[in-house]
Formats: sequence, C-alpha cells, structure tokens
Amino acid sequence: MSLDQETFQILRDSVQRFVRERLVPAEDAVEEHDAVPADIVADMKELGLFGISIPEEYGGIGLSMAQECEVAYELGQTALAFRSVVGTNIGIGSQGILMDGTDEQKAEYLPRIASGDLIVSFALTEPDAGSDAASLKTRAVADGSDYLISGSKRFITNAPRAGAFTLMARTGGPGAGGISAFIVPAGLAGLSLGKADKKMGQRGTKTCDVNLDHVRVPAANLIGGEPGKGFKTAMKVLDRGRLHVSALSCGMARRILQESVAYAQQRKQFGQRIGDFQLVQAMLADCQAELLAGWSMVQAIARRYDAKPPGVSDPEVSMQASCAKLFTTEMVGRVADRGVQIHGGAGYINEYKVERFYRDVRLLRLYEGTTQIQQLVIGKQLMREA
Ligand SMILES: Cc1cc2nc3c(=O)[nH]c(=O)nc-3n(C[C@H](O)[C@H](O)[C@H](O)COP(=O)(O)OP(=O)(O)OC[C@H]3O[C@@H](n4cnc5c(N)ncnc54)[C@H](O)[C@@H]3O)c2cc1C
Repeated sequence: MSLDQETFQILRDSVQRFVRERLVPAEDAVEEHDAVPADIVADMKELGLFGISIPEEYGGIGLSMAQECEVAYELGQTALAFRSVVGTNIGIGSQGILMDGTDEQKAEYLPRIASGDLIVSFALTEPDAGSDAASLKTRAVADGSDYLISGSKRFITNAPRAGAFTLMARTGGPGAGGISAFIVPAGLAGLSLGKADKKMGQRGTKTCDVNLDHVRVPAANLIGGEPGKGFKTAMKVLDRGRLHVSALSCGMARRILQESVAYAQQRKQFGQRIGDFQLVQAMLADCQAELLAGWSMVQAIARRYDAKPPGVSDPEVSMQASCAKLFTTEMVGRVADRGVQIHGGAGYINEYKVERFYRDVRLLRLYEGTTQIQQLVIGKQLMREA
C-alpha cells in the first residue's frame, strides 16, 4: 500500500504548510487552554490526517509506512498535542482492526476512523500491567452471543474523545495466549472514564482510565472472530507505532534545533552572538548529527517494514523498529536538553518553546514500550539469532 509519489508530494507540502501556518501559531493557545481548538480538528479532518494509514477502499489515503513516517516527521515539528488528536486513529487504535479484523469489522469501523468521525483509542495498559502487558487482568467472559468485560485500563490516550476502543482482555488462561482484542464502543452500559490525568507535558493531549463493569460486547466485536490472538495483534500494532513515534521524535528534534539556532543567532553575550562561541556550536552540531542519524535510520527501517508482507510480523524488522524507537526517543531527549542549555535561563521559562518541548518529549521514552523494553526486544532477538 502506498500513494503515488507525485500525489504524496502534494500531501506532504500541504501538511508542511498546515504545520507552519495553522499549528505553530496555535501552540500558545493549546498550552494555555490545555486543548486543541475545534476548528483545527476540523481542518485536520479536511486534510485527511485521521486516515493517512487506512487503505483507500476504506476511505483513507493509504500511505506506506515510509510515507506515514514523513508525515509524522512534519507533524513532529510543532506541539505534540496536535499529532495526538489524530495519532490513535492513524496508529494504535485502528491498526489492530486493519491487520487482523474481519471484513465486516473493517467495513463497519475503518471508514469512520479514516474520516475522523470516530476517534478510536488503544486500551492495553492496566494499573498492574504496564511493561508486562501479557499479565493483564481485564476479563472477557462469554455469555450467549456476547462477552461481559470487566476490568480497568490506565493512561488511555484520547479516551475522553473516543467513540470506541481497541481493547485487550483475557478470554483464556494466563499469559499472552489467553488474551483477545475487542472493539468496544464507548457508549456501552458499564463503561466509565476516570478523571483526566494531569501530565508533566504535552498539554492538550487527553488521557484517563477506562473502567469496565460487566460491559456487554457482542462476540461479533472480537477482532478477527477468534479468541486468543489479541496479544499478537497488540504487538504488531506496537511495532508499527514505534516507527511512527520515532519519526515524530525526529521531527521534534528538528524543531528544537531550529529554535536553538535562531536563539543562538540573536542572543549576544561578551559582545558577540552566542552562536559564534564554539562551545555553543558543539551543542548544535551534536544535535544535527544525532538528528541526521535518527532520521536516516527511521527512513531505512520504514522501507524495510514496507518490503515485508503486510500484517505479518517479522522479528528482524520488529527488532529494528525497537532500535529506532530506542535511539530516536533518547536522541530527542538529549536534543531538548541541549536546546534548554543553549537558551540559558530563558530555556527554563515557559514562554520559550524549548521549555515546553523539553517536557513534551519526555513521554516518548515511556509509552509504546519504554526504553528498557526496546532494549529487551533487541537483546532477545540478537540472542535468538545467535
Ligand atoms: C501519557 C501516556 C499515554 C499513554 N497512552 C496509552 C494508550 O493509549 N494505551 C495504552 O494501552 N497505554 C498507554 N500508556 C501506557 C504506557 O504504554 C505505559 O505507561 C508504559 O508501557 C510503561 O508501563 P508502566 O507505566 O506500567 O511502567 P512499568 O512497566 O511499571 O515500568 C516502570 C519502570 O520499570 C522498567 N521495567 C519494567 N519491566 C522491566 C524489565 N523486564 N526489565 C527492565 N526494566 C523494566 C520500565 O522500563 C520503567 O523504567 C500511556 C502512558 C502515558 C504516560
């Protein structure tokens, strides 16, 4: 799946313009009100951003992974809250349905996800099951032609906006093989949301707990129609998500570098621009080199992702996606730290963009698998290959 290169260039140029002309000027409002303005969400729908990863037959734009990464790179160059509005529809919320759903499930849900009329979240994490997701406790018990689902999901991105959840619950015994994935509509009786999480950064993004008390879900909503496959679905979805987050991290590193170069050009100390001091140039140079390394890596691995059969997990490509997430999310943390340093005291003050970005990027090393989990994936695959 991919868009022809000429049409893709037009899309990428429109996204670039949208980021520069619409999103960057709205960053302060998002920070102040902790919300993405409704007219911007409407423009995102108009641009087709909710459906970039969904095939054209379901109303999406049908980008390849490499193309999606280029769009994520552009969206990374502004406050990450904007990307978060479309992020679960592009990635972790929709991809389980696309990869493993039945034809009926795809036809029912994907067009509304692609248009942005339905926001879909991904609900895997629980209070006692984070990195060890295979130990999740939410239970789905068969009851006639339905399942009754009870349990609690934690830190679910876009839950307050969601019309449906791709939700992992235990239908069988312990471990990964007992987990199934369901499409759970948000309005069902027994489903409630916790209070909004107050986060370190990424103001404008919305996360909260999702609580389920005997929520009656039709068996037709079991993704793929077969129990016990949900953990595999979740892992495939996360593999893909890791490349998207990696591209996003590179975009944000680019923006922080631009902010830092601009500051180094105009700020004067000791009678000259701080950008003329070689110690400041060294910080800028390290940012540039690491950004280039990260972005080259993401593009190469995304092309390998596209070369494998769609929906099939390849341990080598998964390992490489983990390498990308490990490197780029740590890299943008270092770039943000240097960005603050280059800004001096101003870098610690909220009205400067780097102060916000410094807090915003901290999350990238935590969700969709922490740095340590990426190291484990990489280490295990190396040992397996040996
Ligand atoms: C803002 C936000 C949004 C999120 N959105 C979603 C979402 O939409 N859907 C969803 O399902 N989840 C979501 N999450 C959850 C996120 O994916 C988890 O927080 C993450 O996977 C880590 O799990 P944990 O928080 O339970 O940490 P823990 O698993 O408790 O980890 C704590 C520390 O221990 C380390 N650790 C754990 N196990 C090992 C090990 N075996 N070896 C070495 N170190 C280890 C970790 O790396 C970490 O440093 C979100 C989280 C946040 C903060």
